[in-house]
Amino acid sequence: MTDDSPPRPDAVRVGGPACPTCGGPVTPRHRPFCSRRCADVDLHRWLGEVYRVPTNEPEMPVGLEDE
Ligand SMILES: [Zn+2]
Repeated sequence: MTDDSPPRPDAVRVGGPACPTCGGPVTPRHRPFCSRRCADVDLHRWLGEVYRVPTNEPEMPVGLEDE
């Protein structure tokens, strides 16, 4: 019997969840997002759902600044 199968590649995982906005690596400073920008994007998305009806526009917010 041969029971020395090689380790599965899924043993290596990315530490921590991914940014819900862009899927990038989350930074402790801006978690659960990767950056302030993505946090703002998500915030605007929430506000948008509250104050206006959702449209079929692509998820490409404009007018957002990094800092
Ligand atoms: Zn992001």
